[in-house]
Amino acid sequence: MKVLVINCGSSSLKYQVLEMETEELLCKGLVERIGIDGSVINHVKSGMDKWVKETPMKNHTEAKGHVLEALVNPERGIAKSMKEISAVGHRVVHAGEKYANSVLITDEVIEVLKECSELAPLHNPANLQGIAACRELMPDTPMVAVFDTAFHQTMPPESYIYGLPYEYYEKYAVRRYGFHGTSHKYVAMRATKMLGKDMADLKLITCHLGNGASIAAVKNGKVFDTSMGFTPVAGLVMGTRCGDIDPAILAFVAAKEDKSFADMDKVINKQSGVYGLSGVSSDFRDVEAAADEGNERAKIALKVYAHRVKAYIGAYIAEMNGCDAIIFTAGLAENGKTMRKAICENMDSLGIVLCDERNDVRGKEALISAVSSDVKILLIPTNEELMIAKDTYEIVGAL
Ligand code: AMP
Repeated sequence: MKVLVINCGSSSLKYQVLEMETEELLCKGLVERIGIDGSVINHVKSGMDKWVKETPMKNHTEAKGHVLEALVNPERGIAKSMKEISAVGHRVVHAGEKYANSVLITDEVIEVLKECSELAPLHNPANLQGIAACRELMPDTPMVAVFDTAFHQTMPPESYIYGLPYEYYEKYAVRRYGFHGTSHKYVAMRATKMLGKDMADLKLITCHLGNGASIAAVKNGKVFDTSMGFTPVAGLVMGTRCGDIDPAILAFVAAKEDKSFADMDKVINKQSGVYGLSGVSSDFRDVEAAADEGNERAKIALKVYAHRVKAYIGAYIAEMNGCDAIIFTAGLAENGKTMRKAICENMDSLGIVLCDERNDVRGKEALISAVSSDVKILLIPTNEELMIAKDTYEIVGAL
């Protein structure tokens, strides 16, 4: 069974087609600049060179049309007709408190997701546009929505309720939701396999450290706590996002610099993190290079970053009363051995000891803890698309 996975942004559309019986990736692609000048589709059939075509695309339906054309193209396509695509899995960022699992998309589900758009105004409307475009062009193909928030819905109230007047939770659903759930779930499942255990018997800490970053405590197969909150700006220091700060800073700086709340929102989302700290870049490769050359702010940025991850690991060990394994995933954690080392340093009193030799690895599944380490440390490249395809396969397969 072939499953098409769609991840729609406001002006971009990423896609993959997987053959589910073998979990083989057949093709993938990216459409960029939808609705603006210079729309372009990049398509790669596995084993072939990238095919790039610049052509105007006014909206997501037109973009999707070009994707479908590429999928059935005799040369670079992966199917003779779209009938061979048995299901579509859509990444959707926010399902509020409505869905704790992936769901088959119906008119009712779409109405619920529209309601959730208020909670993710930058993401859900784009995700919904992608769904609408697919439904228009593939009206008979079953579709599944897979949510970034779903895996975290198992958190207990003590993890998700903020210390604010309770009525804000009741009236406006202001609470911790958590994001990157598909990635946390995928690596937790892979870790369980690597450890040869049952997830119900494990306490895991999953560290998704990419441009956006979050960490989750996964206790007995369920998320117990996670670092992102009501929005994805909370928790760890990120590429351009500030992570946890004293909330009173916002009003203080806004008054000093004559900024509005909208301005401050931009500051904490786009101008902070290692970018704002270092003044160099949001990309860790640039920041590490600058630190190596002696740039003091870059050095501080990296120290602050590692310190925050370490603090969360300690907190989650306390919350779960132990930890069997720490998992590193996403761009920085999959590639950056220096950052992994900085995070794990001086944690032997918690039974966490990294092996320098094993840590000299990137981009593949590996055990990187020392033999003496009570807590296993694992490197697991994330694969959110495979996770979305698997959920889609399971739900549509059961119809
Ligand atoms: P992601 O959001 O998961 O795609 O991760 C992207 C981030 O990974 C980039 O911003 C980089 O900072 C980081 N990254 C990628 N490769 C490396 C590397 N070799 N060393 C350090 N950081 C890296």
